[in-house]
Amino acid sequence: MTSSFSNLSLAEPLARAVAEMGYETMTPIQEQAIPVVLAGQDVMGAAQTGTGKTAAFSLPLLQRMLKHENSSTSPARHPVRALVLLPTRELADQVAQQVKLYAKYTNLRSAVVFGGIDMKPQTLELKKGVEVLVATPGRLLDHIEAKNAVLNQVEYVVLDEADRMLDIGFLPDLQRILSYLPKQRTTLLFSATFSPEIKRLAGSYLQNPVTIEVARPNETASTVEQRFYSVGDDDKRRALKQIIRQRGITQAFVFVNSKLGCARLARSLEREGLKTTALHGDKSQDERLKALAAFKAGEVDLLVATDVAARGLDIKDVPAVFNFDIPFNAEDYVHRIGRTGRAGASGLAVSFASGGNDVRLVADIEKLIKKKIELEAIEFEEDRPRGRINDGRRHWREEGEAGDARDVLDTLDRPRERSEVRPVRGGRPHRTPAAPRDPFFEQPYETPDREAAPAWEAAAKTTPARGISSNIKTKRKVPALFKSVEPG
Ligand code: AMP
Repeated sequence: MTSSFSNLSLAEPLARAVAEMGYETMTPIQEQAIPVVLAGQDVMGAAQTGTGKTAAFSLPLLQRMLKHENSSTSPARHPVRALVLLPTRELADQVAQQVKLYAKYTNLRSAVVFGGIDMKPQTLELKKGVEVLVATPGRLLDHIEAKNAVLNQVEYVVLDEADRMLDIGFLPDLQRILSYLPKQRTTLLFSATFSPEIKRLAGSYLQNPVTIEVARPNETASTVEQRFYSVGDDDKRRALKQIIRQRGITQAFVFVNSKLGCARLARSLEREGLKTTALHGDKSQDERLKALAAFKAGEVDLLVATDVAARGLDIKDVPAVFNFDIPFNAEDYVHRIGRTGRAGASGLAVSFASGGNDVRLVADIEKLIKKKIELEAIEFEEDRPRGRINDGRRHWREEGEAGDARDVLDTLDRPRERSEVRPVRGGRPHRTPAAPRDPFFEQPYETPDREAAPAWEAAAKTTPARGISSNIKTKRKVPALFKSVEPG
């Protein structure tokens, strides 16, 4: 098996785009999936975001579509030939951006449609004709119903993050969309895990798929240093800032379990001088994309996020991930810390357990990752006497004034290099007042009940989860649909 793109015989425009992106060797999923997709076979791939799976399906798909490439301005000459479905708007946006880059030297057109924003510009783009359509299911159905999107010439369909799509109740929408597609097509399904539900989905829609698994689903990268600290709720922010200071951390993801907790933590860290932004389901689409762009550009140091808002986001090379709250589902722990220590780089994952229920959740994680977890006590730096202090660089200020952890982040040049971990200046302790406890803010958020019925059955009985497009209507019970599903 080859590992270099140059041995792939990619068409020149695609090879040029890949070279321009700086890719030299293929990632394992690319090595395995690209030849299979080029041969026109269905694929069932277990691969998480960060493994290079977008290129693994996009490049061969574009290569095979080059025969349709034309420069005609007639929309009829640009029907949708490939459809990529994803569970969230951010993921759809990311994948669409990547597809555009890979296709930039071809005449193949691509577009993305997702909910939460005006349909009109999307409609205009669709009406002009696009060969590759990246979409979230709810908004795509809107466009299908409005006759903006016609899918009867689709040759390739990619169900990306399929497990997540089922988790959030998209199965009925997927089934409707798939019913509009020609039966003769190539279907690619990617999922972080091959649960029985995913296998049933694959059984219904894929034909003799080649199974590709690049990493065991619940594996955590050996390059990630995983630390668990026993910290009281009131000391978590102090612990977070101390670790950031001591480790010279430049950027981090901070995960919390509730969207209200997310907003509250982001606000308080911001008040303490850290450039922080929040990513949760209540943010508008525009705010979420801006938050993401600011983090990627290095304008924001801490991205405080809930699992649902952050899952799968293509942010590479985050030096550290903090689990400010231990996730309710052990699998989310694996997803969260998968954002650091990518591609062989070293990363740090710090989790704060505050007793009670957290002990059980940590035990679940231990079982899932099959690694012994040591809960460490955190030693807070000794407080210095209060008074005016010199921060060593710029100005004098009062002890306790906002800005100490901020300063650590400021000392680092941008763009940041992960090897550039500099000693922390001053290391001045900073005690923050404990946040008032308010049970309202402690409410859990968006956690599927895995003990209960399969997510899709629950979704079929109830109204869709909040944050999902109002267009999603779970019309029929899904097991019944499975029986009536036509293969391929
Ligand atoms: P993905 O898993 O598709 O979200 O990709 C994660 C990141 O890896 C993206 O930013 C890609 O641009 C990058 N990437 C994909 N393939 C390669 C490759 N062969 N070499 C280097 N970077 C890659």
